Amino acid sequence: MSKVEKTRENILKCLCKKCPTYSFTCKVMAMPGNLILLVDPKEDRPWAETMFCAYSKSNCIKEEKGCLCAKCEVYKENELSNLYFCLADGGK
Ligand code: SF4
Ligand code: SF4
Repeated sequence: MSKVEKTRENILKCLCKKCPTYSFTCKVMAMPGNLILLVDPKEDRPWAETMFCAYSKSNCIKEEKGCLCAKCEVYKENELSNLYFCLADGGK
């Protein structure tokens, strides 16, 4: 279970959207007007296409192209150790 707090402050610090792994398709899906796409029909709850260390892995990122997590304030503050939280729950 992630200990990273799901706060607006942390979301603003997250570097995922600047990351080469964060694909264009995911960026489009994460735009505010498209948030309807982010409701999980099985659990009827929204998931976040950002700050994957606090939520779960991405539903659209599939390919490793480098990870910016180690440079992120949230990463340092929470003493995280894995990378690629978008590709595996809890990172890899
Ligand atoms: S978890 Fe790492 S690899 Fe994935 S989008 Fe964020 S910074 Fe990039
Ligand atoms: S550690 Fe990675 S996933 Fe977590 S907030 Fe920072 S950039 Fe985003």
